[in-house]
Amino acid sequence: MKLQFLGTGVGILQPDKVQSGFVVEPNYGRPLLFDCGAGILQRFFESDYDPLDIEAIVLSHLHLDHVSDVLALLKSRWLCDKPECRIIGPEGTQDWLDKMFDVYPYLQRGFDITVTEMNPDIELDLGWNCKLSCAPGIHSVPSLGYRLEEGDSAFVYSADTEPCDSIMELTKEADVLIHECSFPLNFEVTNHTTPDMLASYLDKIGADRLYLTHLYPHMQGHEEETLEFLLKDFEGDVEIATDLLKIEI
Ligand SMILES: [Zn+2]
Ligand SMILES: [Zn+2]
Repeated sequence: MKLQFLGTGVGILQPDKVQSGFVVEPNYGRPLLFDCGAGILQRFFESDYDPLDIEAIVLSHLHLDHVSDVLALLKSRWLCDKPECRIIGPEGTQDWLDKMFDVYPYLQRGFDITVTEMNPDIELDLGWNCKLSCAPGIHSVPSLGYRLEEGDSAFVYSADTEPCDSIMELTKEADVLIHECSFPLNFEVTNHTTPDMLASYLDKIGADRLYLTHLYPHMQGHEEETLEFLLKDFEGDVEIATDLLKIEI
């Protein structure tokens, strides 16, 4: 699989990062977009992907920095004669979408959208030998971490969360973990992750490549110290993701 980060930022705007989202292209399937915060739509033009080719949008949770561009993406596809889209998200996704369409009823008539609400009991067969499963994170609203498997390859995306057992269990025998790291060392926070919070879970990570994303401006200038701190106890690779970074899984 190929993965390209489109946005590695958060709700606070930053010059070099748009909000959250990345594209995954399975070897034998069509690209999937994970999260779609503000700025993601425009980032497509700098990426390897065309928003019209996206097969499904997978939403971790419904905070604005993860969903702001969803409606704009759907409208843009509709204007290009691509009214159909699959949206996969947590419980409440259908209701959220219905409420958005209540505000813009003319859009509802034009779209052909299938919504699948995920929970940890579901292993979703996407076709093309790809399976999607999820686990709940610890966040201020219900938030799902996802695992996507294609054959023997797998990656896990923590989404917004404190480090927790449920997400780490998803990483069993995975290749890559994309984990949020919102704030720097010793920052007092709940519902998000700092390097010291993540450190106590490093031995539970089943993947040997760790990418940190969802970076608040507070993380700026703390990149090296974060990597040094985590590499003391993590035997694999750790990298801080940047917008448009491409990785192979
Ligand atoms: Zn967020
Ligand atoms: Zn959030």
